[in-house]
Amino acid sequence: MMSRKLAIIIGGGLGGLSLASLLAKEGLDVYLFEKNNHLGGRINFFQEKGYFFDMGPSWLLMDDIFDYFFKLVNKNFYEELDLIKLDPIFKIFFEDGESITFYSDISKNEEIFEKLEKNSFKKFVKYINLMEEMYFLIRDKFIFNEINFRNFFDLDLIKLMAKNNPFKNLDSGIKKIFNNEKIIKTLEFSSLFLGTDPKESLFIFGLINYFLFKRGVYYPKGGIYKIVEKIVDINNNLGVNMYTNKNVKEIIIENGRANGVILDDGEYLRSDLVISNADLYHTEMKLITNKKYRSYNDQFWKKIKIAPSAFIIYLGLNEKIDNLVHHNFYFCDDWNLNFKEIFNHNNLPTNPSFYISVASKTDDMIVPKGKEQFFILVPISAGLKITENDKYLFRDKIYKKIEEKFNISKLESLIELEKFFILDDFISLYNSFQGTALGPIHNIYQTLFRPKNKSKKVNNLYYVGSYVQPGIGMPMVIASAIITYKRILKDLTKK
Ligand SMILES: Cc1cc2nc3c(=O)[nH]c(=O)nc-3n(C[C@H](O)[C@H](O)[C@H](O)COP(=O)(O)OP(=O)(O)OC[C@H]3O[C@@H](n4cnc5c(N)ncnc54)[C@H](O)[C@@H]3O)c2cc1C
Repeated sequence: MMSRKLAIIIGGGLGGLSLASLLAKEGLDVYLFEKNNHLGGRINFFQEKGYFFDMGPSWLLMDDIFDYFFKLVNKNFYEELDLIKLDPIFKIFFEDGESITFYSDISKNEEIFEKLEKNSFKKFVKYINLMEEMYFLIRDKFIFNEINFRNFFDLDLIKLMAKNNPFKNLDSGIKKIFNNEKIIKTLEFSSLFLGTDPKESLFIFGLINYFLFKRGVYYPKGGIYKIVEKIVDINNNLGVNMYTNKNVKEIIIENGRANGVILDDGEYLRSDLVISNADLYHTEMKLITNKKYRSYNDQFWKKIKIAPSAFIIYLGLNEKIDNLVHHNFYFCDDWNLNFKEIFNHNNLPTNPSFYISVASKTDDMIVPKGKEQFFILVPISAGLKITENDKYLFRDKIYKKIEEKFNISKLESLIELEKFFILDDFISLYNSFQGTALGPIHNIYQTLFRPKNKSKKVNNLYYVGSYVQPGIGMPMVIASAIITYKRILKDLTKK
């Protein structure tokens, strides 16, 4: 137990909340300030007309990472949440009219694979097993620790790299194994979970396919927001002081030390260390007013490649829809053009691929009896200006596609609730950089040289969340809290 230090955390997203638990458990006095009126950040929700909507994440993957974190705070993830393993896992609707449902029992997918490409199922099983092996090899070295090139000098990793380089390109790696376009799309779309074009992504990130097809996709009954509620409970029990509607406007830096923060109302709050969970651009360029204390300059922000934004529509529908499962995708034929357009900072996609979550297929408590909810997410480029006119034209395009491809007649007549969340909402609600939904993409450079979880210029200023190591998505953000926590402990015990 160390002497009682006071830590201020800026932002109550998953990164800030989980770091708060870890620090409080270690005996630190933790104060967390969140600008919005409730905690959770991008894991957000709203309730209206008897519908409950998760507004952000809908896929709970990598349960082992959540489990690891919960164990660190003496809780059991599998007991704390009412987890349902989804089956089917997802359904893909292709532009040519074919739709394919994938199941959690891997052997149930044999017929599908064989129909698409002869002898592909055996290759698929081998590929998934390879992803499993790679994942467990890299997890403890690279996910729970800051990237350190010494970690590459590991005999098992070297052997694996000689056999199958995990850092090669995802797209070419998959295309070396499979020929069928639909199989390739099925095994590559998960790179979008990391906000990255498969052509820029790494073979190792196919590890998500291990979770999708073998380990399992989960849903916590009541919605993904239950995860936030559990961590908030843990924090309350550990004595973390959490405040909402408290916008931090500046980090106080004096003689190279972060000595606290200034809130919007002018209140000065002093601390021994400051950790920012806000998007890194906002932290560095807005909260640090003296340029000499910024670790990343204008050039860095000009060069950085960021993940797409999103055009999201939440629909409450007045009847059940048969043709869909919990997780559904529509994939357009011209996949390459679509990927180009969602990174071009130029226009809305001409023929968009999109995703529809119908969580009410699994959880009837989140909708009024006999009704259905759609969460429609269309990846779009960050940095766009979208007018009201663009918005409604694009919406109509999506509804038309849904009617045609998902075989739903008169979608508009079923809608009793319609709400949007689009690019600028990411900026106003989360202080997101150019409206990115996720943060910097995971190409090889931005994975291996991702910003570290500690400022390069200010000794006791730390970062946590999807902009820093290891990266994007709920499990990675929890891992980032673990990395930041280890770094803080190391620094505190050094003194
Ligand atoms: C639409 C969408 C779908 C997603 N789907 C999935 C999915 O299916 N599965 C998955 O694993 N991940 C998914 N993700 C990614 C995942 O939600 C994020 O990676 C993760 O929640 C980010 O957590 P964070 O703590 O890094 O940041 P955030 O959640 O953004 O938290 C940062 C917090 O800081 C606050 N803040 C900012 N500035 C200030 C300030 N000046 N003062 C005080 N507070 C401030 C913000 O309000 C916010 O609450 C999705 C994300 C989105 C947006």
